Amino acid sequence: MNLSILYRGPLSSCNYACPYCPFAKRRETPAELAYDRRCLERFVSWVATRTGDSIGVLFTPWGEALIRKWYQSALVTLSSLPHVRKAAIQTNLSCQLDWVDACDKAKLALWCTFHPGETSRERFLAQCRVLLQRGVRFSVGVVGLKEHLAEIEALRRELPAEVYLWVNAYKRQREYYTPEMIADLTRIDPLFPLNNTFHASRGHSCRAGASVIAVDGEGTIRRCHFIPTPIGNIYDPNFADSLYERPCTNDTCGCHIGYVHLDRLKLYDTFGDGVLERIPYGFGESKPFLENLSHAHLSTE
Ligand code: SF4
Ligand code: SF4
Repeated sequence: MNLSILYRGPLSSCNYACPYCPFAKRRETPAELAYDRRCLERFVSWVATRTGDSIGVLFTPWGEALIRKWYQSALVTLSSLPHVRKAAIQTNLSCQLDWVDACDKAKLALWCTFHPGETSRERFLAQCRVLLQRGVRFSVGVVGLKEHLAEIEALRRELPAEVYLWVNAYKRQREYYTPEMIADLTRIDPLFPLNNTFHASRGHSCRAGASVIAVDGEGTIRRCHFIPTPIGNIYDPNFADSLYERPCTNDTCGCHIGYVHLDRLKLYDTFGDGVLERIPYGFGESKPFLENLSHAHLSTE
């Protein structure tokens, strides 16, 4: 079985205080953290048993997980398993980075979000340089808030050209951007228009629920993070019976970790094996990247 797993355990705390985030500066008790660790270790042990499968994992925590040693250890273990093709995580990149040297860097990947106001650009870029020096594959991204546009432009200027910088559109407010801002952000991230869209999805085929699943700390399987109905549990030996193609039941899909799996958008052509960590295929080698952009269908039909 070829399976991509978006794992989100019970962890829900963060060392940053982004004003738009419910996990800002939220702390957890030692007992809550110990529970998160037990869940994660059980998940990693389960992945280790799936030797007949090809598995990609993306940790999509509520809050910041990579400051916790057990997530660092999980990435070390997962990346070393022969049948794991990718071990990736979303992070604010505030953690120590020594542990990456114990990973198989051919499989490790980081999805790094810059939060202006929570850390300086210089400090964030210094962490990016550490990743580059240590040979870690990573994408960098930022939420496209108007008040951060100058910071985003500076970040793009100062990041090496081979590092993809994605911009997440702020979509909580309709008509948030002027056409000029959209043009500016598209110059920074050619895929910005794709993110600045709620993609019509009801009735459309999607890999979520078949070859891509979301898993929580108890092993409960959902198609994706956006459809709450459980469809099984990975700790049930027969869990694979519940994985099959089915049409999406939501009206729209607006996050990369969802719409990238929507078949009609053909974004696996654009991202290749960088789907989970959000790195377009061939990024840094401009020709293949631009060629594959033509496959991205931006309409909301
Ligand atoms: S770094 Fe991420 S999880 Fe933490 S407060 Fe900011 S948006 Fe929320
Ligand atoms: S299109 Fe989005 S909401 Fe629908 S199943 Fe796929 S990932 Fe989930």
